[in-house]
Amino acid sequence: MYMIFKRLIIGGEIVEEEVVSMEVAEQKQAATAAMLKATDLAFVKCECCGLTEECTEEYIKRVRDRNSGRWICGLCAEAVKDELLRSEKRIGNEEALNQHMSFCKKFRSLSPPENPEFACCCF
Ligand SMILES: [Zn+2]
Repeated sequence: MYMIFKRLIIGGEIVEEEVVSMEVAEQKQAATAAMLKATDLAFVKCECCGLTEECTEEYIKRVRDRNSGRWICGLCAEAVKDELLRSEKRIGNEEALNQHMSFCKKFRSLSPPENPEFACCCF
């Protein structure tokens, strides 16, 4: 199996090191290529984890409609869904989103902000 080493070096120190399988790297490339082919793309930042994604205007609008005007990435959306399922008292989507956002903020304050993609709490 082919592996790629990814290293994040800040000030000469290795702060993050991860192994990405060739398959995952290729999937990511294919996804990026597919997105670049589409028109009306815009950059949008996740209001939870700060991840920036390039999405179609239509997709951005759909996500915003679902989350009271806030845009959250796919990973955070999954985490919010999880939050909803886990809650013993029946909370609404809005409250689950708020809970996840405060969790994310707490997590992010512990991580260096240079690389929000790897700081996302949802992995
Ligand atoms: Zn996110």
